[in-house]
Amino acid sequence: MSRIVDFIADIFMPNRCPCCDRFIRWDELVCKRCQKELPLFREHDIKPPEGCSAAVCAFRYEGIAKQGIYSLKNGCGKNFALYSARVLAPKVKGAEADLITCVPMSRRKKAERGYNQAELIARELSVQTGVPWDFKLLARKPKSLRQHDLSAEQRREFAPTIFYAICEPQRVRGKRILLVDDVHTTGSTLSACASLLIGLGASDVVSVAVCRTLKKPRSGREIRRITPDELRLLTELFDYADPDEMIRQNTREMNAGELDIFVMFEGSKPIGELHAACKSADERAEEGKRAYLYAFRIREGYRGRGAGKQLMEQVIGELEDRGYTEFTVGCEDGNDRARHIYEGFGFTELIARKYEEYQGDGYEFGLYLRRDKNG
Ligand SMILES: [Zn+2]
Repeated sequence: MSRIVDFIADIFMPNRCPCCDRFIRWDELVCKRCQKELPLFREHDIKPPEGCSAAVCAFRYEGIAKQGIYSLKNGCGKNFALYSARVLAPKVKGAEADLITCVPMSRRKKAERGYNQAELIARELSVQTGVPWDFKLLARKPKSLRQHDLSAEQRREFAPTIFYAICEPQRVRGKRILLVDDVHTTGSTLSACASLLIGLGASDVVSVAVCRTLKKPRSGREIRRITPDELRLLTELFDYADPDEMIRQNTREMNAGELDIFVMFEGSKPIGELHAACKSADERAEEGKRAYLYAFRIREGYRGRGAGKQLMEQVIGELEDRGYTEFTVGCEDGNDRARHIYEGFGFTELIARKYEEYQGDGYEFGLYLRRDKNG
């Protein structure tokens, strides 16, 4: 649809965010808040589906990403298809693919829904990457059983029997193909399609999915940004001389968009925290470029079991996704243990000395910089 048609449509059918249903501007795809909250998939060692050489995903299949997929399947999520394809595009650039295709939908289903959501994503991915698409390679038989009701094991057995090739082998021979689907669950669907493409002579198939389901890590640890309403949790991790003042100050900075506080939970119990300031009057932070990480704490009894590393790496990863390339930490001179830990994360360059008071105590510390590995 052209932008003018979109604009006019906006008057009659207001544009909504596919993840939270809030009204958004006619030229927006996902609201600003959801853009920030979408759970980016950052696990690097994803096991590709059988028959694929690599797997790429945009989001973890949880929270508002799940809502986006739901909208996509229920006719009002075209925005989510376009947005996801733009998140995926830089991730597939390195694959140097020759062709983009998608997991096919049966003709009956497509007629019912009016579109194949995987095709919407694949088309936009083609626009974003310049890699041509071809959706006339594979086809799918109409479903005789509802696939939702099948167990993972049954799906695996069933998947190869419902897809078939409909093209001449020369259309794919020797080509590296990006195979797009909306959700990568067991991988059996992607795997069945990949095998057909390889069978036709494709040199390589890379699976591309908007969302990927993740097995919960065995530790049951979760790291997330907390809201001002949850600030009181921090008093479990540190003895504040004045907890109410801590809450007031952090609430103010969080609402002003100057501060994010990440908490690591085990079950519902907070076991670690790390604060990230993205604005400051000195060299500590610069919005969009350099973030200042402080109040890095792991609860006693949980230290030395990889919790700190997991917290620091995940927070840096999330900030890198938002464009940050430099990170600073403060460390008191005599604290060799902390110095050593920060050095391990690449904070080696001393860039300034600082003095600061907080709730009645004074601290003198060096400010250390870590540059992004690519920067
Ligand atoms: Zn939203």
